[in-house]
Amino acid sequence: MYSITETAILRGIDSVLVSIEANISEGLPVFEMVGFLGTEVKEAKERVRIALANSGYALPVRRITVNFYPANLKKSGTGFDLPVALALCGAMGIVDKNRLEEGLVAGEISLSGKILAVEGILSIVDMARQKGKKYCIIPKGNEEEAMLVSGIKVYPVSTLRETIDLLKRRDFYEIKIVKTKMQNEIQSYPDFSDIAGHEQAKRICEVAASGMHNLLMIGPPGVGKTMLAVRIPGILPPLNEIEKMELSKIYSVSGLLNPGSGLISERPFRRPHHSISKGGLIGGGTALKPGEISLAHAGVLFLDEFSEFDKSVLSELREPMEDKRIRISRLSGNCEYPADFMLVAAMSACRCGYYPDMNKCTCTSSQIGSYLSSVSQMLLERIDLGIEIMQQPMGIFCSREPTETSEQIRARVMQVHEIQKQRYKKECFSYNGQIPSSRIENFCPLTEELRTYMEEMFVKLKLSTRRYYKIMRVARTLADMDGSERILIEHLSEALCYRSIEKSFWERNEYDL
Ligand SMILES: [Zn+2]
Repeated sequence: MYSITETAILRGIDSVLVSIEANISEGLPVFEMVGFLGTEVKEAKERVRIALANSGYALPVRRITVNFYPANLKKSGTGFDLPVALALCGAMGIVDKNRLEEGLVAGEISLSGKILAVEGILSIVDMARQKGKKYCIIPKGNEEEAMLVSGIKVYPVSTLRETIDLLKRRDFYEIKIVKTKMQNEIQSYPDFSDIAGHEQAKRICEVAASGMHNLLMIGPPGVGKTMLAVRIPGILPPLNEIEKMELSKIYSVSGLLNPGSGLISERPFRRPHHSISKGGLIGGGTALKPGEISLAHAGVLFLDEFSEFDKSVLSELREPMEDKRIRISRLSGNCEYPADFMLVAAMSACRCGYYPDMNKCTCTSSQIGSYLSSVSQMLLERIDLGIEIMQQPMGIFCSREPTETSEQIRARVMQVHEIQKQRYKKECFSYNGQIPSSRIENFCPLTEELRTYMEEMFVKLKLSTRRYYKIMRVARTLADMDGSERILIEHLSEALCYRSIEKSFWERNEYDL
C-alpha cells in the first residue's frame, strides 16, 4: 500500500514543499527512511513507530519504506514527524489517502503521541495557501500563528490520535474552526515630544528617517543619544501588509513571534550588545536562525557604544548593507534572510567619554586618537549623517514650549517617502540614502552656479569623492523635505554641516589638549 503527504522545510523565511511517500509491502520486516535526511529526521523513525503504537496503531511487521523528495534538499528539523506518521497511516489504510494528499501537514510528535509546536509555521501555512492546498494540519501550539494566514483552512491538533480521528471524519471539510481572538499588540514608541531641546538632533533624526540615511551620533554618556535613537522607528511610515508578513515570518522562524499578538505591525528597534558574535549579528549558527540585522528588517539597528564592537564582527555588515539581505551558506544549502535596516550608531569620542570637553576629559591626545581609530572605517563610509550631541542647558528643561509630536514629524517623513517612491519606481533602490555613486549625477543634478560652489567646497574642505557623494544624497533628501525638485544652495550648505563631525573627529592629526 502506498500513500503520500506533503509538508514543508524552511529556506530562509520562505518554505519549500517536501513530499513524503510511504510504502508498505510484503518482504522482510524492515523500516527504512531515505531522501537526504538530517539526524533529527532520521530519528523520526523511532519516534513515529512508538507514537503510533501508543496511539493504538502499531506498524505492521512488513517492509516499510519512507521516501522524502526533492532528494537534493537536505531535510532537517523535527516538523517531519507528523507527516511521516500520517503517510504511514495512509499506507496502512487507516485514513483516506486522497484526503491526505489535498493538505499540508507539519508537527513534531512525542513518544506518547502528543503533537509539539514547530518554528516557522507562518511561512509554512502561507506557502500551503500559495500552492493551493485545501487545508493545513498544524500543532495546537502554533494555532495563533497559523491563523494569521487567511484563505486556507487550518486544523490545530494536540495528539496523533486526535489527528487520525479528525482525518477519518466524513464532515472533515465542514468542521468549523473557531479562530482565537487576537489582540493587536500596540508597541508604541516613546514620543519626540518628550524631549526638551535637542532641536538640531531632532532635525537630523527626521532627515535620516526621510531619506533612510544611516546616522552616527557622538557625545558624552547621558546626553540623550539612546533617547533619540529609540524614537526613530516611531517617525518612519507605518508598515504595509507585505512588510508586516515578511517581518512576522522572520520573527516566526526565529521563534520570537508572540503568540496571540497578530502580525508584527510596528517597525522593529534592535539594540544588540557590543559583545555580540558574528552569528548573533548576521545570522546562522547550527540551528540556522536570522540575526539581529534581519530582526531589525524594515526598522532600526541601533549600535550603541559603536567603538566597542569587534571590528571583524562589524565587517560582516558590508554585504547586507549593500544588498539589503544576507546570504548564509551551509552544508545543507544556502539560505537568505531580508536585512533592510537603517543603521543608527552612537558612541562617545574618547574612552572617558567627555572629549572634546577639555574641562572633563582625562584622556591623552594619543589615547583619543587610538580610540577613534578603532571605529570601523568600513561602516563610517556607509554612514551619510553624523551629529555631535551636546548636553542641553538646564533652562531648556524648564521651558514650557510645546514640542512637536512624533506623529507630526511622521506625517512629513511619509510625504518625503512618497516623493522617493515615485522617483525611484524603476530603480533597484528606493531611498535617497541608497543612491549608488554612479547615479548621483542623474538624481542630484546641480545648476552651473551650484556646481562651482561645490567645486570650491571640495577644495576648501578637502572633501573626498566618497564624502561628496554622501553630501549629495543628504542634499537630495533636504530638497525633498522642502518639496523642491531642484537641490538649492541651502540644501547643500545644511548637508555640508552634517558631515563636519567626521572632520572634527577623524580627520585631524592633533587633538587639542
Ligand atoms: Zn576623554
